[in-house]
Amino acid sequence: MKPVGRFAPTPSGRMHLGNVFAALLAWLSVRSRDGELVLRMEDLDTQRTSGEFARILREDLTWLGLTWDRETPAQSTRGQVYEQYFHRLEELGLLYPCYCTRSRLHSADAPHLSDGTYVYPGTCRHLTEQERAQFHRAPAWRVLVPDREWVVRDRVQGESRWNLARDCGDMVVRRADGIYVYQLAVTVDDGESGVTEVVRGMDLLSSAPRQMYLQELFGFDHPKYAHVPLLTAPDGRRLSKRDKDLDLGVLRQNLRGEQLIGVLACCAGLTEKPEAISLAELTAEFSWEKIRREPVYLDPKWITG
Ligand code: GLU
Repeated sequence: MKPVGRFAPTPSGRMHLGNVFAALLAWLSVRSRDGELVLRMEDLDTQRTSGEFARILREDLTWLGLTWDRETPAQSTRGQVYEQYFHRLEELGLLYPCYCTRSRLHSADAPHLSDGTYVYPGTCRHLTEQERAQFHRAPAWRVLVPDREWVVRDRVQGESRWNLARDCGDMVVRRADGIYVYQLAVTVDDGESGVTEVVRGMDLLSSAPRQMYLQELFGFDHPKYAHVPLLTAPDGRRLSKRDKDLDLGVLRQNLRGEQLIGVLACCAGLTEKPEAISLAELTAEFSWEKIRREPVYLDPKWITG
């Protein structure tokens, strides 16, 4: 079976190098096995995203040569589809309304794991109808999570074990303002587009077990996962959209597409030197075994042209 990969950017600004790094590896993974690549705009947050950013994003990908075979509808247009899946969870008896406010959830006495991750303690799980009626406001909706283990076998990070009851608690699937959350939207979109492999930044590794749980409830197969290392600045900080000097608008003024691809290929561990390379040559070189697992320090000398 041919692999189906995807690139799912959030059009909230110009792509930065970390985004391009993930896009390149998603592209190489499917192209090296004659697969298909799906593009999807993750614009659930309509305040921060725009059609103009989406247009520039497509243009930047095209400039790099990172082609896609089809683009599926942007998430902001899919509320009704997500609603159908939300009702399935309801039918399964797994949903309950949650009235906790943000400030309450993030207060100092709320339970947090040692890394600061918040774990929902189930405060609203057993509210009676009467107690619910006292809030006089629209609730968020949470899905019950089971106390069981999930094993993520990641092509880059290896095996990791998760238990959602311990790691995050019951998950919000719809916010109080009616917006469906990332975990639900991604699971539905990947599942409906027949995605067989997910390649994205390491910062999303903890989303894999959450999405695997929803895939099981919705009857989708689990895709293969590859969480690629984050690129870091000289001070060890991860690169982000705030690093304006590293967004594609600036990089395109200094470098040709093949130079940029060459730098990222070297960061990935696919080549020894950060020299210009064509996508065709790189496709022949690609294998997941070569990809580095640790965060990659990006030497600014390589990208200043
Ligand atoms: N939209 C997310 C981002 O731009 C990626 C989500 C995913 O690949 O699952 O960081």
